[in-house]
Amino acid sequence: MIINMEYGASEEQIAHIIAAVERAGYQPHTIRGTERTVVAAVGSGGNRIQLEGLQAAPGVEAVVAITQPFKLVSRQVRAKSSVVYVRGVPVGGDEFVVIAGPCSVESRDQLLATARSVKQAGARMLRGGAYKPRTSPYDFQGLGEEALRLLAEARDETGLPIVTEVMSTEDVGLISEYADLLQVGARNMQNFALLRALARVDRPILLKRGPSATVKEWLLAAEYLLAGGNQNVILCERGIRTFETDTRNTLDLAAIALAKELTYLPVIADPSHGTGRRSLIPALSSAALAVGADGLMVEVHPCPERALSDGPQSLDLAGFERLMSTLSRPARTLTPKEFSNSAA
Ligand code: PEP
Ligand code: MN
Repeated sequence: MIINMEYGASEEQIAHIIAAVERAGYQPHTIRGTERTVVAAVGSGGNRIQLEGLQAAPGVEAVVAITQPFKLVSRQVRAKSSVVYVRGVPVGGDEFVVIAGPCSVESRDQLLATARSVKQAGARMLRGGAYKPRTSPYDFQGLGEEALRLLAEARDETGLPIVTEVMSTEDVGLISEYADLLQVGARNMQNFALLRALARVDRPILLKRGPSATVKEWLLAAEYLLAGGNQNVILCERGIRTFETDTRNTLDLAAIALAKELTYLPVIADPSHGTGRRSLIPALSSAALAVGADGLMVEVHPCPERALSDGPQSLDLAGFERLMSTLSRPARTLTPKEFSNSAA
């Protein structure tokens, strides 16, 4: 259930509702929007009648049931989209934010050359894997803490906030000392111990959708983060597994639009993992922008043929620059004649 406070409800009235929610046997979560405050009562086994009675409490506008299985991330709780700040960069507002960088941090030269170039082309954040989830144990597993130090150096030089993946609860402390945005990879979307640990971290989280997760499961994974106390969550659609084998994954554009409908959290797209093919990245980037994504995460490498991971889906530096200029161009125009035909 959610308790919508009236516009201008006092702090005292809000505190009264929070205490009443606790007395009724639920956990209160207070969501303060720019205009009004909402107190969400979550949990099971509480006294529902007592909650419904709060309809008559001072400062309360309405008590309404949340019909979705996810509660705190639902647009029913907060109609206005949220903006998540990553070291000052706003994700989810008016700006379409592009995150770029190599799949894996491989060397100082590779990372710094990429960071300088993507910054110049208009990227707002730098990505780079330090701990890599690889399908085979014989593949490159990442440089670990050395990569984190290199990412910090690249941030110092370029000013770009850094994004890197955390695979295990053991690494949460160390990685959050370095990273500005902690990525939960697709394979870990339902690692509930990891989600619980990240809920307690004072850093925003980039939650990738699992390759076989439904949108509901993805939003319930985000719910773990919010229920545990971290409201700064950005969702990332990175493609799902389908019967198609000519692309690595199928970038689920409908899921981006659906997620934007169901939740107020920002949603970005990863067309690199979403296609596995460099040639398709510009088209899918424009498509993601068109369906309402708040940004992109794109893999970029100075020399993709020598990349230690994900070379075939990495843009080179010039390719990324071209992508950025294409994205800023307006959409195709329809001639008046075509328009009247299609409208008929
Ligand atoms: C990555 O971002 O390099 C990565 C491993 O992504 P995903 O978890 O989506 O496979
Ligand atoms: Mn990758």
